[in-house]
Amino acid sequence: MLPDDRMVIRPIKGEKMQIEKHKVALLEYTLTNDSGEIMDTSEGNEPLAYIQGIGNLVPGLEEELEGKSQGDELKVTVPPEKGYGVRDDGLIQVVDKSVFQGVDELQVGMQFQAQGDDGVQVIWITEINNDEVTIDGNHPLAGENLTFDLKVVEVRDATEEELDHGHVHGPGGHHH
Ligand code: ZN
Repeated sequence: MLPDDRMVIRPIKGEKMQIEKHKVALLEYTLTNDSGEIMDTSEGNEPLAYIQGIGNLVPGLEEELEGKSQGDELKVTVPPEKGYGVRDDGLIQVVDKSVFQGVDELQVGMQFQAQGDDGVQVIWITEINNDEVTIDGNHPLAGENLTFDLKVVEVRDATEEELDHGHVHGPGGHHH
């Protein structure tokens, strides 16, 4: 049907902003691992706010979110290569308790920064046996397929300050 002279033509209202580089997006999410366990969720908290395209999220997740807009719901499975990496047994090491300085009580699951010849690395304690502590430089979710249930709550431009800092300010982000 072609417009006739009685027809009114208006621009489409509310065209939604899409997620692309340097947009801020707020997400409701639930993360499950291969065995279907919930590893993390925004349920009961404010949505997660991040800046697209600067490595705030694992690469596979950013890829899937590109082009999505407010109200979109999606379920994506990110393989380890695009998630927290494949497991590397070379990153597992047993050290003496005494290398942990200024810590009252060591517990499995604690996260530390280790300063080595190659720079700073994040490590997790995976086992404690008397004075022997097993540390692991693999992210706890390395080697896992990550399944995210996502809902895009909001998409907006990042401010210059946010881009400067590399993170979102305000709800769901950093509070200064
Ligand atoms: Zn900041």
